[in-house]
Amino acid sequence: MSRFNRTSRNVPTFSDYTSYRPYLRKDFEYQCAYCEMTEASVFGIETFGIDHFKPKKVFPGLICVYENLYYCCNDCNRYKGAVWPSAERTAEGYFFPDPCACDPLLDHLQEGEECRLAAITKAGSFALEIVRLNREPCLRFRRKRQSVQQRIGDYRQLLEFIDPVEIRELLFQTLKELEIEAVECFGQLFDLTRRQHVADRGNVPARMVAR
Ligand SMILES: [Zn+2]
Repeated sequence: MSRFNRTSRNVPTFSDYTSYRPYLRKDFEYQCAYCEMTEASVFGIETFGIDHFKPKKVFPGLICVYENLYYCCNDCNRYKGAVWPSAERTAEGYFFPDPCACDPLLDHLQEGEECRLAAITKAGSFALEIVRLNREPCLRFRRKRQSVQQRIGDYRQLLEFIDPVEIRELLFQTLKELEIEAVECFGQLFDLTRRQHVADRGNVPARMVAR
C-alpha cells in the first residue's frame, strides 16, 4: 500500500509548477513525502517546498507534471537534490522508494530503538543515505509521534476497561511528562500558579507584580 494517495480531483494544468502547491499540500497530508515531518512540527509552511521526484535536471520533460511533484521539507529537498540512480544501480535494487507507490517506512525501512531507521532493502539504504532520515530533527519528530501514539493507545485502552486506580496512575504519569515538557517551554522556574496570579491582577504591569 502506498504511503500517500493523491486525492485531489480535477487538478488544473499550470505552466509554473509552484502553482500546484495547494494541491500538493493536501495530497501529501501537510507533511514531507520523505521524512514525514509535518508542517505543524516544523513551525510553518515556509520550511516546505516542492520536490521533483524524478529530478528536473535528469528529466526536464517532467518539470510541470503533477505526478512527479512531491511536497517535502526543504532539508529533504536539498539532500535529495538531483540524485537519481543509474539504470544499472536501479537494476541492482538501489532506487529511491516512491511514497506514492509504496510505504517506504514499512516496505524498505524499519524503525528500531530510539526511532532510528534501519534499511531492510537496498532501496531503503539508498533513501536513508541520500535523504539522511536519521538526522536529529527527524529522530525527535518520530520519537514525539511514537510517544503520542502510545499515549493515545493507553487512553483508549483505559476508556475501554475503566479502572479508577489505573486512571489515577495514568493522569499522574501524564502530568509528570507534561511538567517535564513545560520546563522546555517556560524554563526551570515554571510555576503554573504564579502565571495565574499575574493574570488575575488584570492590568498591573508585569514588572510591578511581586515575584
Ligand atoms: Zn523531509
